[in-house]
Amino acid sequence: MANPPVIEYVVKQGDGYCSGCGVCVGVCPTQAIRMDWNELGMLEPVQGHGECTSCYRCSAVCPFADGLVPNQINPNEDELARTLFDGVRGHHDTALGFYQECLVGYAPATRMAGSSGGMGTWLSLRLLKWGVADKVISVAATGGDIPPFFRYTVSSTPEEVMSCAKSRYYPVQVADAFQRVRQERGRYAIIALPCVLKAIRLAQRLDDTLRENIVFCIGSFCGGQKTAHYLEYLAARSGISHDDCISADFRVKNEGRPATCYSFTCTHRATPATERKLDMCSIGDMWGTGLFKPNACEYCDDITAELSDVSLGDAWLPEYVGDWRGTSLMIVRSDVARQLVSAGRSQGDIELEPISPSQIVKSQAGNYRHRRKGLAYRLYFAVREHRAVPRKRIQRLHIIVNPLKARLYEERAQVQRLSHTAWLRQRDVMGIDLFEKDMALPLRTLKTWTRLASFPQLILPALRKRLARLWPRK
Ligand SMILES: Cc1cc2nc3c(=O)[nH]c(=O)nc-3n(C[C@H](O)[C@H](O)[C@H](O)COP(=O)(O)OP(=O)(O)OC[C@H]3O[C@@H](n4cnc5c(N)ncnc54)[C@H](O)[C@@H]3O)c2cc1C
Repeated sequence: MANPPVIEYVVKQGDGYCSGCGVCVGVCPTQAIRMDWNELGMLEPVQGHGECTSCYRCSAVCPFADGLVPNQINPNEDELARTLFDGVRGHHDTALGFYQECLVGYAPATRMAGSSGGMGTWLSLRLLKWGVADKVISVAATGGDIPPFFRYTVSSTPEEVMSCAKSRYYPVQVADAFQRVRQERGRYAIIALPCVLKAIRLAQRLDDTLRENIVFCIGSFCGGQKTAHYLEYLAARSGISHDDCISADFRVKNEGRPATCYSFTCTHRATPATERKLDMCSIGDMWGTGLFKPNACEYCDDITAELSDVSLGDAWLPEYVGDWRGTSLMIVRSDVARQLVSAGRSQGDIELEPISPSQIVKSQAGNYRHRRKGLAYRLYFAVREHRAVPRKRIQRLHIIVNPLKARLYEERAQVQRLSHTAWLRQRDVMGIDLFEKDMALPLRTLKTWTRLASFPQLILPALRKRLARLWPRK
């Protein structure tokens, strides 16, 4: 039996290029694919019960198949956006994609329940209330006391929507939710990360049910996904082994602290269940280092979910992080989203003010550097090493233009790869000592190269100023 193309070219022959979205399973007509967990704690497609008929629907919706599957040419985010927002009046920005308005603020009623300003939950509630959608597909805790701890679920009541608030830095897949979309007709809204949204938009091109039934997409900014081992690592750092952890919350707000200093909490299965809290500001950089990041995320250049009706992120800017309750960034793209947001503002439901696109980019500056400039280097490395890579909007470098940056990206890739294997060594041993030991040197080396790579940017402006003072222009 032939392997379905996504399994053959994206999972097997690729270099871990699957982000585990599950959209391929949702469009396979013969159940030749199903999703399963791999040893790195990621979801990926595996051979299902049915036979593959080589229809190539799975690779036509895969956000990473373009360039990996022979003869597969899928439109990129810009091309998809052009068809989505054709005729809509707005602007285009190479960093943010197509947009009508850029806003910053919060929803007073849902702010404390949410991760940032509670806008994700507010929008979901309003979509139901105003009848734009009958159901919202978002991510909830499974409620079980064994993994997986989170999954996509379909909500149709405000209570159900509220229970889905907050970011879950954990792999989730949409295949099961898509089955509901097929079985139960209705208008669905979905909240998803950029790669998942790209897959959904590709799927809507070839699947009438998905096109007609999914009427609104909320996009989440993304700095890269995390494997399920990230949760295990944080639980272990809190003193709970993965076998004893029964629930977790990645974003607990800390009164009086900057919004960036949120906590992770998890619960031990002991009777009575005990909760542990971990201050995320005390444990070092979990995002910029690439720890527990799937490799697929290294080949994604969409940071703000450019194919959404509306995108949401954290306002990581000095003027907003001081408010511990959290503040959301919002990019309004479609007309429906603009109408919803403007009605919410005029009814005093949400507090939003305009923000410039450049401020949004600034709030995600490290992410843009790594996912845009860094990607050009990663594509160069891949070609040098004769590795197949997905086709991206970012052009690969043909020569190394900055050896310091090149080394920085190589070191970061090393940390990302090692974190997966180091955790496998630690996983069944109590504590985090083995992991810390394995990661200590690579993390120190990465820190050194990060400093060295940013050194020219730090001294060049000062040097230029000095020279200008010595030799003023006539
Ligand atoms: C893996 C990941 C990486 C992120 N990276 C960044 C980043 O680099 N920069 C940034 O500014 N923001 C990032 N975010 C988004 C940020 O964490 C907040 O989700 C966003 O600001 C919305 O907050 P809110 O308070 O408005 O939404 P809330 O009211 O908290 O609602 C959040 C909504 O997102 C849904 N959701 C939770 N987890 C997931 C998931 N894994 N996939 C899809 N939907 C989910 C929830 O079900 C809920 O409906 C990331 C989110 C995730 C899940």
